[in-house]
Amino acid sequence: MKISRLFQQKKAVYSFEIFPPKPTADLNAVRGAIEALSALAPDYISVTCSAGGSGNSRTPEIAQMVKACGVEPLAHLTCINSDRAAILDALEKLRRLGIRNVLALRGDRIPGAPDSPDFSYAADLVRFIRGNGYDFDLAGACYPEGHPDCPDLDTDIEHLKQKVDAGVTHLNSQLFFDNEDFFRFRDRLAKAGIDVPVQAGIMPLVKKSHVDRIVGLSGAKIPAKISRMVARFYDTPDALQEAGIAYAVDQAIDLLSAGVQGVHLYVMNNPYVARRITESVSPILRELNGVPHAD
Ligand code: FAD
Repeated sequence: MKISRLFQQKKAVYSFEIFPPKPTADLNAVRGAIEALSALAPDYISVTCSAGGSGNSRTPEIAQMVKACGVEPLAHLTCINSDRAAILDALEKLRRLGIRNVLALRGDRIPGAPDSPDFSYAADLVRFIRGNGYDFDLAGACYPEGHPDCPDLDTDIEHLKQKVDAGVTHLNSQLFFDNEDFFRFRDRLAKAGIDVPVQAGIMPLVKKSHVDRIVGLSGAKIPAKISRMVARFYDTPDALQEAGIAYAVDQAIDLLSAGVQGVHLYVMNNPYVARRITESVSPILRELNGVPHAD
C-alpha cells in the first residue's frame, strides 16, 4: 500500500526506522529484528541506506524482507554520490521487488567521495523519479531545527517547499528532543503553504553510543532534562535504557496530544525498545484511529 493512503485513513501514522547490516554481514542478521518489529504492527517500516557509492545496494533486499513480514516498507534512496544511470538501476530494482514507497534523499557529503554529476539536492531526485514516470509514493526529509548546511530555518523551509512541490507526498522529520521545536516548525510549514503530512521523528536515547555519535551527527539541541538523564545514567546502561524509553514515550504522547499526523521511531533495530514504547503508545493510537480494542 502507498503510505499516502495511510495518512488519508488514519489520524496518526506510526512507523519504525531500521538500518541494513554492514556489507560484510549476512543479510539474515536483521531477519529476527524485522520479524519482531513487524509483530508490533507498525503502519510501515523505513529502511535506511548508507551514503557512498554503493550505499543503496542492500536497502531493497531488506525492504523486501519487511514486505514479506506483512508490513509496508519505505526504502531510503540517496543521490549525492550517484549518477542518473545508477539511480535508474536502483529504481528498477525497487519496482521489480514490489516496493511502492521511497524516501528521496540527497545524503550527507562524504569527504573524498565525488559528488553526483546529476543531482545536487533531494528535489532533483524527486523531479527525476517523477520525470521518468515511476509511480512510487515519495517521502522527503525535513528538519525542525533547520538543516545544518542551511544558514537559517526560513531558507531551509523555502527549499523544503521546492522539494514538496516537486512531488513529495509526506515528510519525515529529523530527530529532536524538544517538542516545542516541532510545533513551531509545523506552524512555519503551514505558513509556507506546505500541506503534506509531517511525521515527527523520535529517537529513544537508550545507549551511550546514541548519546556520543548519533545525537552529535544530527545536531539536535539537547534540553536540560536530557542532559540530566545522560549525566546521571551514562555509566549504568539499564538505567539509561529505562530513562530513554520513558522520555521517548512522554515525547510521543505529547506529540499525539498535539495532533501530529504521525510518529516515526528511530528504533535502531532494537525490538525490545520498540516493544516497550509501542505498548504505551498503541492504546492511544487505537483510540485516535478508531480501532476497536482486541478484548
Ligand atoms: P535536501 O533536501 O537536498 O537538503 C539538503 C540541504 O540543501 C539543506 O540545507 C537544504 O536547505 C539545501 N538545499 C535544498 N535545495 C537547495 C537549493 N535549491 N539551493 C540551495 N540549497 C538547497 N542519510 C543517509 O545517508 N541515508 C539515509 O537512509 C538517511 N535517512 C534519513 C532519514 C530522515 C528522516 C532524515 C531526516 C535524514 C536522513 N538522512 C539519511 C540524512 C540526510 O541524507 C542528510 O541530512 C542530508 O544532509 C540531507 O538530505 P536531504 O534529503 O534532506 O537533502
